[in-house]
Amino acid sequence: MGNKLNWIDEELVSLKDSGLYNKIRTLSSPQGAWLVVDGKRVLNFCSNNYLGLANHPHLVKAAQDAMQTYGVGPGAVRTIAGTMGLHLELEKRIADFKRVKEAITFQSGFTANLGVIPALVGKEDIIFSDELNHASIIDGCRLSGARIVRYDHANPKSLETVINENKSAYRRGLVVTDGVFSMDGDYPPLDKLAEITETHDLILMVDDAHGEGVLGEGGRGIVDHFKLHHRVDVEVGTFSKAFGVMGGVVAGNPRIIEWVRQRGRPFLFSSAVTVPDVAATIAAIDVLEESTELVDRLWQNAEIFKQEMRLLGFDTGKSMTPITPVMLGDAKLAKEFSHRLYEEDVFAMALGFPTVPKGMARIRVMISAAHTEDDLEKALNAFTKVGKELNVIK
Ligand SMILES: *Cc1c(COP(=O)(O)O)cnc(C)c1O
Repeated sequence: MGNKLNWIDEELVSLKDSGLYNKIRTLSSPQGAWLVVDGKRVLNFCSNNYLGLANHPHLVKAAQDAMQTYGVGPGAVRTIAGTMGLHLELEKRIADFKRVKEAITFQSGFTANLGVIPALVGKEDIIFSDELNHASIIDGCRLSGARIVRYDHANPKSLETVINENKSAYRRGLVVTDGVFSMDGDYPPLDKLAEITETHDLILMVDDAHGEGVLGEGGRGIVDHFKLHHRVDVEVGTFSKAFGVMGGVVAGNPRIIEWVRQRGRPFLFSSAVTVPDVAATIAAIDVLEESTELVDRLWQNAEIFKQEMRLLGFDTGKSMTPITPVMLGDAKLAKEFSHRLYEEDVFAMALGFPTVPKGMARIRVMISAAHTEDDLEKALNAFTKVGKELNVIK
């Protein structure tokens, strides 16, 4: 057999020793405020199901109905086998929802980033990238072959500095940032970033995976929140978070969308999302356009929870959205905290390096509109009990 794979065993032991090994739990229920995990009913604070749409009857029904007409699979990539009317409908609906001109869908937010960034910039170009950008943005940037220059997190001054340091040393330039940063729940001053990119004639891209369904009017996202429609060149999004389904989107300037249709490699070389995904996502847009009730409840729940946690003495970091980090520092402590919460029927994930920087481990609490006041109170009680036990609060 040889020893060529022994390094994997050693790496895994080292991950376990440092508290960074991922143990994945198995669910036997839909995503909702409560989950059944390995036979145990627990309160769910782990998912990105911000609005409770992952198990919404309107979405489930739409998926079932669409399968009667279209079957399940797309058959091949859209440029070869043709595109289903349903995919085009989704693209129109999501562009309208976001109040931009056009949109193109991908299999996921991850592949949307891998598609759009290398379509926009290449070897002779430069990317100015927020230092805390999501892994899929980083991979998209690397894949493009462009020079990557990082700027300080959410810091327009730092962006301006690195732009000036690299002036005229490139053909095209792209500024890219997360909309909402998923580990801290903060977002950048996108209006300031837009001004700077306009001054320097750079392309501006925002990945709003955690902003859609959360920020802006009725959950229209960070671009709507800052009223920057048509000033942000391109938005990447996902249907896997607040929309409760699966799929990615690139939206914005029609010239960019047309170009991505010709040059976005995951669009050209990988099949589209399935029929039930598309139909359910359209239904999610129906729900969002009909009423702001779910988005309002999400923010209400978040306000209540964050305020109470701070009163208890927890450090909720820089959160500006329903994503609530509970800062603990040490990765092992965070694991232990999460483990104890679980024993108290609260499912909330510990995050450590490399997902967050070393020494900044935390529990991340994902608030949802699906949580009732009673659910939040149960969670607060569990946090109080475990926090005292582990000497995090007094
Ligand atoms: C979750 C996330 C993605 C990936 O989205 P998927 O549709 O799940 O692949 C991309 N970008 C950001 C910023 C994200 O938070």
